[in-house]
Amino acid sequence: MAAQRVWRNRSLVQTLGLSESDVRVVLTRAQELKKMWLGWKGSEFPHASLKGRTVVNLFFESSTRTRSSFELAARRLGGDVLNFTAETSSVTKGETLFDTARNLEAMEPDLLVVRHASAGAPLQLSKMIKVPLINAGDGFHEHPTQAFLDVFTIEEHRGTVKGRHVLIVGDIAHSRVARSNIYLLKTLGARVSVCGPPSLMPPSIEKLGVSVFHDLRKALESADVVMMLRIQLERQNQMQFPSLGEYSKFWGLNAETIGSLKEKAIIMHPGPLNEGVEISQDVATGSYSVIMDQVRNGVIVRMALMDLMVGHD
Ligand code: ASP
Repeated sequence: MAAQRVWRNRSLVQTLGLSESDVRVVLTRAQELKKMWLGWKGSEFPHASLKGRTVVNLFFESSTRTRSSFELAARRLGGDVLNFTAETSSVTKGETLFDTARNLEAMEPDLLVVRHASAGAPLQLSKMIKVPLINAGDGFHEHPTQAFLDVFTIEEHRGTVKGRHVLIVGDIAHSRVARSNIYLLKTLGARVSVCGPPSLMPPSIEKLGVSVFHDLRKALESADVVMMLRIQLERQNQMQFPSLGEYSKFWGLNAETIGSLKEKAIIMHPGPLNEGVEISQDVATGSYSVIMDQVRNGVIVRMALMDLMVGHD
């Protein structure tokens, strides 16, 4: 049977529930676009599939990498981008998310990219409007494009994720990155483990099919991929561990703890980094780290998604 080549869903709200072939369509298109990108020397990227299309970036929560990466991705494909941030919009005058979106919809954009502090807001929006939508992170629910770029980066460095041991370390309870990655990695057949302070571990996490480690050094010994997470202080009512120094001592990656790693292991981080807390500066820039590749691939993977969702044939 021929491999699936098209994106069959209207929007991308979460990685939960995506089929393996849905995921492979995106990863394959990203590979094709990356090849094109690396071989490209001219002034205008040859694959202008978003020419005449308008992408609206609707960010109700701050972002550096994600927002600029969506913008760059749309522009590389020849699209127009409208950036809309909550601080400079009528949201500050009391306009609701849905009013804002309906008004933007009336301007007939082709794609909405939405980040919101409330889990579930992009899903609600996608049900109320007809424009395709990509979730760029909602509360501690999901951040699907981050998981796509993470898997793409892992496969570039280590081949298929199937059967690989991916260890996610840190604030699992508040992390949308962890959730989206767990679903996507499990769909592709990876072995996923989590490690972190018990107070930052969601209850019944094992039900997602992941194993739990309480000893970081032990967990590192068998990991092919280590994903470090930022402590999401903004999503905690109170700090759920004694101090950042204490956290770093038990759950941080540094010159000493990486001594437990396999030779070919890779270290990832979605950014922004809390240097000296979950990861030391020398480890973040050292030979195991693929963090800058994640940032580069973020643009490519978002190009692939936009191309598949709203690009011209
Ligand atoms: N940039 C990621 C996110 O938006 C990770 C983080 O903020 O820690 O979820």
